Amino acid sequence: MTRLIFLGPPGAGKGTQAQLLSKTCQVPHISTGDILRGAVAVQSELGKKAEFYMSAGELVPDDLILDLIRERLAESDAADGWLLDGFPRTIPQANFLETLLEEIKQPCDFVVNLEVPDEVLVARLLSRGREDDQEEVVKNRLVVYRDRTQPLIDFYRNRQKLVSVDGNQPMESVTNDLKALVQA
Ligand code: ADP
Repeated sequence: MTRLIFLGPPGAGKGTQAQLLSKTCQVPHISTGDILRGAVAVQSELGKKAEFYMSAGELVPDDLILDLIRERLAESDAADGWLLDGFPRTIPQANFLETLLEEIKQPCDFVVNLEVPDEVLVARLLSRGREDDQEEVVKNRLVVYRDRTQPLIDFYRNRQKLVSVDGNQPMESVTNDLKALVQA
């Protein structure tokens, strides 16, 4: 049973590592970014609303995200564990999640903070070529990360949940560090 939250700036490799680890641990990888991009692709009501914020590198408002997470964690494949990637991203989201996980009696094991220096992040994001990876949007996502998401590092450190992993290593080394953590 593995329940992990991945924290870290855009471009830190959360998605890649969470995807790999979800196979190792046999629990679903729940990425709010992937869910939102899927909603945009099919132009659902959620997608139509989210698109505007995502293309500007802004966060999608909480009222669009919170129910989505509650519903996703209630699905049967999430009963025996999950890897959360991209959620929570703000202190209100973290408070919401804390209450929700208590309600459903699914405490998270720990929160992985993937650490990568800024200059490496920008280079990675610009080489990735996703729609929201243009220079101005990337810069804004980093600003938004610092303002809104970075405070979660202290939030989880205060709760003795934070584990830092060096994300500025070859991908396989990061994966090995993460595997060692979940197997410990
Ligand atoms: P990255 O980790 O590269 O920033 P994501 O795929 O996690 O990319 O997220 C892409 C975009 O989706 C974000 O810039 C934001 O607009 C939106 N998004 C994803 N998760 C959340 C969330 N928890 N709260 C608000 N917006 C979100």
